[in-house]
Amino acid sequence: MAVPKRKTTPSKRGMRRSHDSLSIDAFQECPNCGELKRPHNMCPSCNHYNGREIIADKA
Ligand SMILES: [Zn+2]
Repeated sequence: MAVPKRKTTPSKRGMRRSHDSLSIDAFQECPNCGELKRPHNMCPSCNHYNGREIIADKA
């Protein structure tokens, strides 16, 4: 089995992990109801997008 020749130093380990942290999700205020929503997505509380209401009835 292939085995690493040397122990990874704390410095190299830290360099590798420097990209591991999760970024915070982007949030915008809904212009219709003021609730926080994801940008480019319909508002989950008032179903508005781009100044008009989106009706999603699959029933
Ligand atoms: Zn809204």
